[in-house]
Amino acid sequence: MNELLMEAAARATRYLDGLRERHVPPSSDDLARLALLDEAFPEKPTDAQTVLRVLDEVGSPATMASAGGRFFGFVVGGTLPACLAANWLAAAWDQEAGQATSSPIASALEEVCLRWLLDALCLPAGSGGGFVTGCTMANFSGLAAARHALLKRAGWDVEAQGLFDAPAITVIVSEAVHVSVLKALGLLGLGRGRVRTVPADEEGRMQPEALPRMDSQTIVCIQAGNVNTGAFAPALEICSLARQAGAWVHVDGAFGLWAAAAPRRARLVAGVSDADSWATDAHKWLNVPYDSGLVFVRDAQHLRDSMAVNAPYLIKGTRREPDEFVPELSRRARAVEIWAALCSLGRQGLADLIERSCVHAARFAEGLRAAGYEVLNEVELNQVLVSFGEDNATRRVVEAVQRDGTCWCGCTLWRGRPAMRISVSSWATTDADRERSLGAILGIANEVTRAGVIRHRS
Ligand SMILES: *Cc1c(COP(=O)(O)O)cnc(C)c1O
Repeated sequence: MNELLMEAAARATRYLDGLRERHVPPSSDDLARLALLDEAFPEKPTDAQTVLRVLDEVGSPATMASAGGRFFGFVVGGTLPACLAANWLAAAWDQEAGQATSSPIASALEEVCLRWLLDALCLPAGSGGGFVTGCTMANFSGLAAARHALLKRAGWDVEAQGLFDAPAITVIVSEAVHVSVLKALGLLGLGRGRVRTVPADEEGRMQPEALPRMDSQTIVCIQAGNVNTGAFAPALEICSLARQAGAWVHVDGAFGLWAAAAPRRARLVAGVSDADSWATDAHKWLNVPYDSGLVFVRDAQHLRDSMAVNAPYLIKGTRREPDEFVPELSRRARAVEIWAALCSLGRQGLADLIERSCVHAARFAEGLRAAGYEVLNEVELNQVLVSFGEDNATRRVVEAVQRDGTCWCGCTLWRGRPAMRISVSSWATTDADRERSLGAILGIANEVTRAGVIRHRS
């Protein structure tokens, strides 16, 4: 075991060192070598050293270098050093984190993290919370608590009776709603297509004046951080209207919620803490390993009532039982890495991580604008949407940037126009990474758009 783990550490270190110079996406040769794994299920055992060697030799080159500083796709960050190390130790512990009895440490860390997270994210102290796989499940869990609370109010026990013949619930979303919210609504029997959709402004912010009449059987889903623009719904106004009507407000804040942790960005989340439930990711801007999402509910009892189960073999102690606040029973101890992140960063380090990402994004926008390209969004957070002229030119630039591999940025469609989407969310991104990436993007864009002009003329 000793030797094996030391070798794993050596291989991992070599991999991480290599990220500094590596192309961000894998090469086609690296991808072709994945065919080596496509064998029949082996009859005989393979020694662990060989298992590790194959994984490293075939697997490591076929990764996306998202742990490095030049990956700007999908609003996901790299893993902080303390989190990676904590993850290794926790894997050695091999804890079943669902029950306090089966993992006292996991349960204790969840309680500490819950308190720290509510503090860092400026959410009401004493709110309940659960440690889930990602923001999709966090949205699901927050909305399950909402469904429970609203139907209970109407005298209906949804967990026992289901939704057939239940009183109706109205769900309001904005036209810029994230697909994971719709997916969660579908899983909850509230319907992906049964929602009332409210128009959003040019940044994707829900328009409060367009809200339909709400009542105590209404759930309003708002966004803190649009997945394209990074924009926030006007939460102060929406929460105030919802409160007057007795409606429930759920916030999808997968990455945007973290703006609350950076004093210079905190104005963006004004009013968000007035909501009833919140969903966010730790594996995005907190830079912990996958999979790690978080749900918070103002009244913990609603979340517990929607999730808790009883079985004769489940032991109920006097402490908070982790599995009573999430869909899963057995699961890994996600709080270990969250604790490691929060402990290693502290309030100042967390603020710095968020702020630095936003400053990188602003600099990307400035450099692109200065070169004559159109930035399509107000860059207030960590997201930059850029158009390189005609739709096809933009698509070609994104493809060429991805092929070049100096950095990696995705493509999106914003208000009908294709755009390159730059998301800065990793602790690992340095000023040098940013300038090198910006230089590569500008060089490629210049080449592609000039070639386009020449083709037009001829
Ligand atoms: C990423 C994201 C989600 C989904 O989160 P997962 O962790 O991928 O499940 C939901 N909403 C927004 C705004 C996101 O950016």
